Amino acid sequence: MRDYIIYKCTVCGEENYIGTKNKRLHPDRVEVKKYCPKCNKKTVHKEKK
Ligand SMILES: [Zn+2]
Repeated sequence: MRDYIIYKCTVCGEENYIGTKNKRLHPDRVEVKKYCPKCNKKTVHKEKK
């Protein structure tokens, strides 16, 4: 039972990454630092609801 989530750059709003997560283990929104090709640097990506 895994849900697909989209990671969205908090700087430019691009949806750069798709992943899965177990909502029972991680009920909160995920925040990860990932490379954004549009910003051309590492930015904080948040799970899109
Ligand atoms: Zn960006």
